[in-house]
Amino acid sequence: MEKFPLDLHTNVQYIKGVGPHLAGVLAKKGIYNVGDLLFHFPSRYVDRRNILPIAKTPPGKDRTIIADVITSGVTYLGKRRSRIFEVIATDGKGMISAKWFNFHEEYMKKKFKKDKKILLAGELTEYNGTKQFVHPEAEVLEEENEPQFGGRLISIYPLTEGISQNTVRKIIRNAIEKYSSEIKEVFPREFLSKYKIDGLKDAMLTLHSPPNEADVEMFNSRRSSAHRTIIFLEFFMFELGLALRKAATEKKKGISIKFNKKFHDEFLSTLPFELTGAQERVISEIIADMERPHPMNRLVQGDVGSGKTLVALACALQTLHNGNQAAFMAPTEILAEQHYRTVSKITDKFRMPCALLTASIKGEMRESILAGIKDGSLPLLIGTHALIQSGVEFKKLGLAIIDEQHRFGVMQRKALHKKGAEPDVLVMTATPIPRTLSMTLYGDLEVSVIDEMPKGRKTIITKVYTDKLRQKLYDGMRKELSLGHQAYVVYPLIEESEKVDLKNATMMAEELSKVFAPDYRVELLHGKMKAEEKEKTMNAFKDGKVHILAATSVVEVGVDVPNATVMIVEHAERFGLAQLHQLRGRVGRGDDQSFCIMVCSERLTEEASRRLNIMKETCDGFRIAEEDLAIRGPGEYLGTRQSGLPLFKLADISLDIKLLQLARQAAFEVVTEDPLLETTKNRPIYEAIRDGGALELGGVG
Ligand code: ADP
Ligand code: MG
Repeated sequence: MEKFPLDLHTNVQYIKGVGPHLAGVLAKKGIYNVGDLLFHFPSRYVDRRNILPIAKTPPGKDRTIIADVITSGVTYLGKRRSRIFEVIATDGKGMISAKWFNFHEEYMKKKFKKDKKILLAGELTEYNGTKQFVHPEAEVLEEENEPQFGGRLISIYPLTEGISQNTVRKIIRNAIEKYSSEIKEVFPREFLSKYKIDGLKDAMLTLHSPPNEADVEMFNSRRSSAHRTIIFLEFFMFELGLALRKAATEKKKGISIKFNKKFHDEFLSTLPFELTGAQERVISEIIADMERPHPMNRLVQGDVGSGKTLVALACALQTLHNGNQAAFMAPTEILAEQHYRTVSKITDKFRMPCALLTASIKGEMRESILAGIKDGSLPLLIGTHALIQSGVEFKKLGLAIIDEQHRFGVMQRKALHKKGAEPDVLVMTATPIPRTLSMTLYGDLEVSVIDEMPKGRKTIITKVYTDKLRQKLYDGMRKELSLGHQAYVVYPLIEESEKVDLKNATMMAEELSKVFAPDYRVELLHGKMKAEEKEKTMNAFKDGKVHILAATSVVEVGVDVPNATVMIVEHAERFGLAQLHQLRGRVGRGDDQSFCIMVCSERLTEEASRRLNIMKETCDGFRIAEEDLAIRGPGEYLGTRQSGLPLFKLADISLDIKLLQLARQAAFEVVTEDPLLETTKNRPIYEAIRDGGALELGGVG
């Protein structure tokens, strides 16, 4: 491993004013070295250039006041005698009160000593004739170490518990003084003007202390030219990593197959329906890619029910026909089992061996499967995470398929890829990801979209019921059941309260049994059941022997029983949009009209009712995904860090989409022109990546 030549990688401890304790506090914020600190930017700016006297400041949002503390301490407020901390301050003419309901008494007492000059910012209200702030941003101004004091824009840093704004400012100032000369410009001049960005160092300095004439609105809305520069750079570095990776993959030698049309047609003739145009197109896109002598890296996006399984199967069959092996990985046992049932029916017809491998397949059975894939006599393996465990060795893996890939972490995807020597990789997702986001996350993948549903599918009728309508709900269910259809009733299972929820789910199943027995059979399915039991229940439901499947959200992904036409979601307000869409996607898989009833409590949070309304409005997965992204933001939307979402310092995928697109275009242009970044012009870009991507911006590895 190469040593970083830059002083920017110096541990923060070596900055004047940072001792071991402070270093520990900074580490909690992910600030380890000088570079991290220089790129720890203010989250907003307070305009202290024309702060008005208290008397002349009207109530309202975003007010700032400077005053001297008269007194401070704990008092009790209102009928309930709530314990609060209050600071009373004056600017000579007017009085201001600041109140906190949550506070650390010792800390507050020390901070707001009598005669200290303080700055308070937040929403100013008036209460009994006194102006007041509740939980304002508060800062003690100390003129000697606060040279910015006195009519300027003041930078407010994202709060780090245990550090005051003054301390952050001071150590950043020290870091800038000593190390900012180490910041190397990344982009050539023409590049800056082409993309309308500033020099990196300029932008960095400006963000920490904006010039006196700066437009505070622009800075607070992240639209300043300095913001634009850093955001662009972060995206650029990230996209550059993708572009380089893609270029490298394209050069690697991989497995090339030959498409056999006759065999493909034979496969199609085993199906009871015709493929949709979109399925056909996507299959030919994939096959064309597999025919190339380089590894394929392709994402198939298709809404729930668009028929991704068959697309994958068609491609796997070609791999097999070419004498290579294929692996098909799904996130749950239920789903793996279902794929196995679907696929083996077809492979049996062609006398192609196919096996299922999950954690619950053990002993001799497991041994013989492992032996079969090792010696190549078993060409097709379907399974769960079990596929990527050690001991699973393929003789010649040609195609690795990952279903519901957003359910897997980046590492798991890589692990399956590693089971072969540069196999073709096909990842599939039913969670429609907004295009902007998929571009970022999977920018190194080719994308195929199945944008058409099988013929005859009807829009699922979606309704929101409260508990009052339970009788109507059961009547509706009974009507569907009497037509020979089946129903799911899903109960949320949330980890913290798993036991209680499970009990509730069990009780719900019992109630349903009471309501529908003896005419209809109800079974419970949940994640804590043994694999065999789950399988038995699921198969009974598939075979139509069970009419109502009372389940926890284990049925959320992938489950395919076209005869089911009713999806009841209990406590629908507790599910996220993506989950609701996935759940609804369990019905509407055949020609019959399907229904989704979301049962919820009468009092909903604003966000919950927004989610349910979106569900009522549309069945379009892409629209739902966009809304979900807007409501929750990319981090929440994608879940964990595992999702592979880069951690940007300033950039925000949902806010800065335009810049993301621009940076992506710029990065791919650079790589197309100069794939190894060898030219003098691109040398600094190369070095930035090598040295940890201009301070590891975008976390390019
Ligand atoms: P998903 O894309 O959600 O994984 P599946 O692959 O499970 O969807 O397919 C959904 C259902 O649609 C399955 O029952 C499948 O057999 C059926 N199906 C797939 N393709 C077609 C088609 N072209 N015409 C009719 N039904 C289809
Ligand atoms: Mg599927």
